[in-house]
Amino acid sequence: MDEFGLIRSLTHGRQSRELLSKNGVVVGIGDDSAVTAPSPGQHTVMSCDTMVQDVHFKTITMNSADVGFKAMAAAVSDIAAMGAAPRHALVSISIPKRLPVTAVNELYEGLYACADAFGVAVIGGDTTSSPESLVISVTAVGEAEPGRALMRSAARPGDIVFVTGWPGCSAAGLDYLLGRAVASDPDETFAQPLETLVRAHRRPLPRVEAGRILLLSGRCHALNDVSDGVASEAWEIAEASACGIWLDEASLPVHPDMTAYAAETRRNPLDWLLFGGEDYELIGTMPRMYAEQVGGAVQATGLPFTVIGEVTDSFAGVRMRSSDGRTETLDKKGYNHFA
Ligand code: ADP
Ligand code: MG
Repeated sequence: MDEFGLIRSLTHGRQSRELLSKNGVVVGIGDDSAVTAPSPGQHTVMSCDTMVQDVHFKTITMNSADVGFKAMAAAVSDIAAMGAAPRHALVSISIPKRLPVTAVNELYEGLYACADAFGVAVIGGDTTSSPESLVISVTAVGEAEPGRALMRSAARPGDIVFVTGWPGCSAAGLDYLLGRAVASDPDETFAQPLETLVRAHRRPLPRVEAGRILLLSGRCHALNDVSDGVASEAWEIAEASACGIWLDEASLPVHPDMTAYAAETRRNPLDWLLFGGEDYELIGTMPRMYAEQVGGAVQATGLPFTVIGEVTDSFAGVRMRSSDGRTETLDKKGYNHFA
């Protein structure tokens, strides 16, 4: 099959007419560029995210469909982290010559499963070969109300710090998958507590709905997605906002399945929560007086919303109050590609 045949077989007729027209797609895949009609009065929000085989995933940790799903999820998460609504995606993929076409098909199954789940229209991309590693880069485009995108620089002293969901589960799942070092099998099922952790690692869900609730509430100050661990994201907010952040160890949401796996492997689950990554939960700040109401609206969607600390002007950086009463400065460490 030539490149055109491959692109066509991967993308043709994959998304409904309704989804495409709802997103203002005038010209989709097939011409030199896509053409879309913006929603009147909205600002455009754009981001891209790349996954490289053996850097971001390995065949022992992810199936092809998971790679596609997660590449789309990571790009959409950056849009969600602005409180914006994702609408379009472009997909650039470099395919190793030895990769079977079935694997590329599976990758697109996962990619479209995520795009459909979040109402995102795939409107184009680029396809090349690669000597060794699979590389996939997704550009996501969304929209937000003018002047209201939620920035990491907007935290203010006195705000509470919140996080959605159960961060750390993805890193715990990765720990398990790397440790057992078995080729991944799409039909394999896992018993608890592993199911929760492996799923969090392979199929993370961008928090689009929560992001929209937070933006539209008009109460949220700073917002970030948790791609590199809670400590690292808190540092980004603290630095961008020129303030300090206190985290309370006792209030950090540790999923019971992560606790169970940590006990089995004699590990500290907080290492995954604080310094792991790829959860794509949201971390942000808002005035304390609105936390119950806005947090309640997020929880009403079925997503946990937990107050984990507060913003202060009495120091710079991120500190944690331990359960035993000590205080410590938290490292910035997350995964740093250039360390
Ligand atoms: P050109 O040579 O004009 O860049 P391409 O062959 O790269 O054309 O792309 C043809 C069409 O297919 C374009 O609409 C492009 O956006 C789309 N496309 C190419 N690769 C992908 C891909 N991996 N996923 C989705 N759409 C793609
Ligand atoms: Mg091209």
